Amino acid sequence: MLDTVKRQSIYQPLQQGLKFPEIPSFQTKAEERLHLQKRLVAACRAFAVHGLDYGFAGHLTIRDPERPELYWTNPMAVHFAQVKLSNLILADHKGRVVQGEYALNRAGFVLHAAVHEAHPDIVAMCHAHTVYGVAYASLGKPLPPITQDACAFFEDHIVVTDEGGKVAVEEDAGHNFAAAFKGVKAAIHQNHGLITASRHSIEAAAFWFIALERCCQQQLMIDATGVPPKLVPPDKARYSREHVGSEYIGWLHFQPIYEQLAQTQPDMFD
Ligand SMILES: [Zn+2]
Repeated sequence: MLDTVKRQSIYQPLQQGLKFPEIPSFQTKAEERLHLQKRLVAACRAFAVHGLDYGFAGHLTIRDPERPELYWTNPMAVHFAQVKLSNLILADHKGRVVQGEYALNRAGFVLHAAVHEAHPDIVAMCHAHTVYGVAYASLGKPLPPITQDACAFFEDHIVVTDEGGKVAVEEDAGHNFAAAFKGVKAAIHQNHGLITASRHSIEAAAFWFIALERCCQQQLMIDATGVPPKLVPPDKARYSREHVGSEYIGWLHFQPIYEQLAQTQPDMFD
């Protein structure tokens, strides 16, 4: 919970006693695990709602609270809209399923496992083959600070180009990718797509993925006009990132998404 108290104070001054999302605390690891699993399922459902599916492609992961070398993830060849508590799988760094009834998409999991293994502080990751993110990734360039929303990613994402176009199944590709993925919340993988990570929560990783896909869409729309946009200056972009791009803000953005899904899709808890 890197900066929770600091960020919370920005949104809660003089609002004592009013309803506001609170980061939960847990009595037991089992209680924490169930909480994490519910949020992971909701993140998958949110990806479905946002049309981020492409066949069986896409992985969302969250570290197990008791065995951090293992990850809960969505089952292979199950649509994001049909992910539920009972079909989640638990996998290790090698992509072996150690709990659950479904197989794992090993090709896609290589990158996840390598990043998780290389960066113990990363607790959650998201990856999918999306329309705008994949299109933008083909340009092999970082996302410029065109809006306040895009500033959330200013100097906080990388572009990985060296394995472009290659199916990321080889472990070497995963390790190279993991080495590059340092201290940032997102990567644009050339000719492949978007990956987000969080050192805080699956909610933050999922929201920043949805946000990055949207920023890529907006950037492509701007590029299509042929008119160069006016960029946010670097000092202001950095200031905006600190205020609207933190882990806590990502977590907070996901709360209305979670509540909406919990109300309308109760089968996700089956
Ligand atoms: Zn992929």
